[in-house]
Amino acid sequence: MTVWCYSEPQSRSACTRAPSPATPARHHQMTMKKQTSTMPMPVPTLALLLLLLLLLLAVQIANAAQSPPLLTPTATATPPRIAIVGAGIGGGATAYYLATKHGLANTTVVFDSRDYIGGRLKHTIIDNQVIELGGDAYASPNIYMEELVKELNLPISLRRGSGGAAAAGRHSESLDENDNGVSTPIDNLVAKLKVRLIELQARAQKAGSGVQGVSGDNIGIWTGTGWIPLTLTLLDHLLSDTGTLESLAGFLIRLRENYVLRDDLTTPFKTVDAFLRFGDLEMYTNTTADTFFDGHGVAKATQQDLINPVLRVIYDQSLDESHAFGALVSLTSLIDAYSIATGNSKLVEALFAAAGSQVSLQSRVVSIAYHRDTKNWNLTYVSTASQDPEADQQHIIVDRVVIASPLEYTSILFINTSLSVTPRQFVHWYVTIIVAKSVNPAYFNEQPSFVVPEAVLTTQPKSGNATVFNVVQYIADADNGYHIYKIFSNDWVNSTLPELFVDIREYDVQVWPYTFPELVATTKFQPIELSPDLFYLNTMESIASAMEVSVIAGRNVAALVAKSVA
Ligand SMILES: Cc1cc2nc3c(=O)[nH]c(=O)nc-3n(C[C@H](O)[C@H](O)[C@H](O)COP(=O)(O)OP(=O)(O)OC[C@H]3O[C@@H](n4cnc5c(N)ncnc54)[C@H](O)[C@@H]3O)c2cc1C
Repeated sequence: MTVWCYSEPQSRSACTRAPSPATPARHHQMTMKKQTSTMPMPVPTLALLLLLLLLLLAVQIANAAQSPPLLTPTATATPPRIAIVGAGIGGGATAYYLATKHGLANTTVVFDSRDYIGGRLKHTIIDNQVIELGGDAYASPNIYMEELVKELNLPISLRRGSGGAAAAGRHSESLDENDNGVSTPIDNLVAKLKVRLIELQARAQKAGSGVQGVSGDNIGIWTGTGWIPLTLTLLDHLLSDTGTLESLAGFLIRLRENYVLRDDLTTPFKTVDAFLRFGDLEMYTNTTADTFFDGHGVAKATQQDLINPVLRVIYDQSLDESHAFGALVSLTSLIDAYSIATGNSKLVEALFAAAGSQVSLQSRVVSIAYHRDTKNWNLTYVSTASQDPEADQQHIIVDRVVIASPLEYTSILFINTSLSVTPRQFVHWYVTIIVAKSVNPAYFNEQPSFVVPEAVLTTQPKSGNATVFNVVQYIADADNGYHIYKIFSNDWVNSTLPELFVDIREYDVQVWPYTFPELVATTKFQPIELSPDLFYLNTMESIASAMEVSVIAGRNVAALVAKSVA
């Protein structure tokens, strides 16, 4: 079992092994107190102590007469021990905000069954390039992501869109710079989207392949039999389709209101509904995307041929399946896209480091039992490398528990706690990274001279007669004239690769057993407080599964935990 211990350097050596069976400080203190009061004290010692006390009192009275009164230090309470199940960005955010906003540094013990920190944030390195295998990018409206990246001084890379400072590897610090989502007025964000669309249009015109409006330097939408002329016709349409841009502007305004009105450091929300009420965001989660866009006068062609493919790439759902929130979040990804230059999981590592968390990897939490008498929790965990999981179980007693993973996939047995959680359906993705010379035009029934678009999106539903992939995307150049591509799909695509690519050097597949929950239009969400002192982050993923949402959830639960131990 690997134990990553993030704490001050001098205490690092104490962390080379997994957390030992529980001897919680609070329990230990109570025992000492009991011993003190029951053990008889010899009479001479007692007399000596009394004399000493009288002397001290006399000195204090004398001092008080000469100098101003000293502040009496308040008794320091034993810090709580807080367990976090899940070393992804949600768990990291919880630990970080507990430490930085609530004075609870070095209180978190973190368990993850995987052998790395980051959960669904994971990357590989190909020819010195960071290639994300899971959560890829965040956009300007993601205020907390930008804040964290700045606070932790992490280098960023700009994936899409424009922004002077970001191109230099950082988010801008002043209001003058145009790529600072924290301070950018909403109309600027919409303006950025317009600029982006015009950019795409111009590129398409410049490339001028003449093949149904598709060119190598842009986005193409593949129907399975032909191309939708996205850039030259649809982008035009989108630019003049005021319904779409107004819907997006309205969404961004309400989203910003949500951040401003919510004071989650002092008055955290206790339900997802309560969160959505800030900025009236329920209107986006209680209706399907197609109904919403119909109601806002968005042309059917724009819905079907542009918003639908973008939604499919981001959340693998179609307009009649997803709620409007999911579709609008997907559209924000067109504004711009940033990621951590060294890999998004580095942000999570930095969060735990700043929090002084003790992180146990390859440690699966198997059960969580509530002790009614002592009002604390017994976590049972086992190394994923164990040959005998029954015999090798370990235990730890904690005061609070935070579940930072979708409950549907934790396989935890809860004892003495009744949970009321309705399970959700999840999307399952395969992420295939291919290093090849090029994408083969023949796969798309095109001539060898045809330049396949950088991103090939698809329109078909994920079941039935679908294309085998959701998206085929050029990511970066590799060495010796090779290129790196990424495919999202619902199944293995290995057998299709030889037809789809020319001269494959290597490929690798990352299977995500759960990618994200389906974003169904609803008014019923799983709870945040599963039971007293047992908190849960990933109900928030039903609004949108994104790094920012996990951070919002972690920041909020940190405040709930802090309030509960105050
Ligand atoms: C392919 C893909 C692409 C994505 N693209 C984007 C994107 O571009 N932008 C964006 O913002 N988001 C994206 N996302 C979503 C984003 O990655 C997730 O929403 C986010 O990373 C979730 O973080 P989390 O900490 O809440 O959960 P997770 O990262 O899933 O962390 C939960 C952790 O809990 C651990 N765990 C579970 N049960 C137990 C147990 N019993 N004991 C111990 N450990 C346990 C798991 O091993 C896991 O590591 C993408 C996700 C995927 C998979």
